[in-house]
Amino acid sequence: MQNVLIIGTGESGYHAALLLLEHNKRVYLYDDAKDSHTVKRIGDLCALGCSQLFDLQGLKQISIDTVVLSPSISARHPFVQYYRAQGVPVISELELSSHFYKGKILAVTGTNGKSTTCALLYEMLSQSKDVVLCGNYGNAFSSVATNPSEYAVVEASSYQLEFCSEFRPHIGAILNVAPDHLHRHRTMTEYILQKLKIFSAMRAEDYAVVNDDDDFLSTCRYATRANTVFFSSKRKVNGAYVKGTEVWFDQKPLFELHTSLIGKHNLQNVLCATTIAYLEGISAEQICSAIKGFCGLKHRLQHVADINGAGVYNDSKATNIAATQVALSCFRSNVVLMLGGYDKGEDFFALFANGDYKRKIKHTVVFGAAAHRIAVDARRAGLPFTCCDTLEEAIDTAFARIERGDTLLFSPACSSYDSFRSFEERGDYFIRAVEEWKKRIL
Ligand code: ADP
Repeated sequence: MQNVLIIGTGESGYHAALLLLEHNKRVYLYDDAKDSHTVKRIGDLCALGCSQLFDLQGLKQISIDTVVLSPSISARHPFVQYYRAQGVPVISELELSSHFYKGKILAVTGTNGKSTTCALLYEMLSQSKDVVLCGNYGNAFSSVATNPSEYAVVEASSYQLEFCSEFRPHIGAILNVAPDHLHRHRTMTEYILQKLKIFSAMRAEDYAVVNDDDDFLSTCRYATRANTVFFSSKRKVNGAYVKGTEVWFDQKPLFELHTSLIGKHNLQNVLCATTIAYLEGISAEQICSAIKGFCGLKHRLQHVADINGAGVYNDSKATNIAATQVALSCFRSNVVLMLGGYDKGEDFFALFANGDYKRKIKHTVVFGAAAHRIAVDARRAGLPFTCCDTLEEAIDTAFARIERGDTLLFSPACSSYDSFRSFEERGDYFIRAVEEWKKRIL
């Protein structure tokens, strides 16, 4: 690997370039984006020794040995197609980084819950081990790949796994699979296949950790040579599970569960992290205390206020219907639900027509680019709704509707890219609006 082309120069592409320069590779950069931020970033890297390429004609002049992709670049990108046709290895930044990292990799994937589980696992390990948290959550893996830590807890997305064939975690876990990112992966089968790549390079001494409660994952044991260990919130398995108020592992009681996290989904996250940590020899006491001290992450079903006796929750990270369903599952009734954002084409009618969810929703406020399509599904399902163009208008509408005993749930089920740069920016906007409302009514 002497001449390496990096396509996409965002956070992971940038750090991949630095990693490769540090290892004396000739690094070429390409990015479709021409905004000032990207231009500056590429300029900085070129000052350090990289070369920028502008088009396929320019690329064809250079013999490239390996192509490294940033997560946002799909298999349909013309350059990816060109190099694949030439037989040049095309790998993700995750795979590249794993070739340099000397410690043990503990990786977690799944449609929802990755960041929460990785953050909790990091807390469990960091009391006694030297560990870095990286991947989709926190730092790019390439920015810590030469770190001499014992462990890397890596959050792996389907986009990153798509171009992995040698990425080999010592422990790899899949939390769940639900429809998401289908504009990129096209079918559920394709999406699941990308997720399963987390297991494909694992060997007999490794562990594949699987959620036994998830229907889609029931065939995973056939996709790996590693030992398969299950976790479950429903029944006894060979990994972590719940018995009464205790967490057990296989035949053994570990600890009494004390957690401030709400919902069955968070219980699954806790059991997944417990399984991984316990397999790595972390004591039950240490795992238990990490769970007790972990309050969850911002923007994930985050309780932000009580206003006139109504609880207000910011779940801006809910960017698909599955995440919004688990949020709804946490409340009994009288939910004023705020949905909307960038339209990923998911089927909202199925959500609204499901009796369990429908009876909990008192009113739906829809906003953003997906608003009109969601409104059509709400009307078809007979659900009361208000359609707003902007989030600002939606917040005012939702606040005007809440009464004592209600829950205001901002769980958009869509990504934020129609109006915001990220789910964090969207969630912070919501939190600021809640603060404003509080001031107005006090
Ligand atoms: P990810 O990193 O996979 O996006 P997060 O931990 O950031 O996962 O949570 C994303 C969204 O999914 C939040 O709305 C959160 O409440 C919800 N969520 C968290 N854990 C789970 C789970 N195990 N199953 C389903 N939804 C979950």
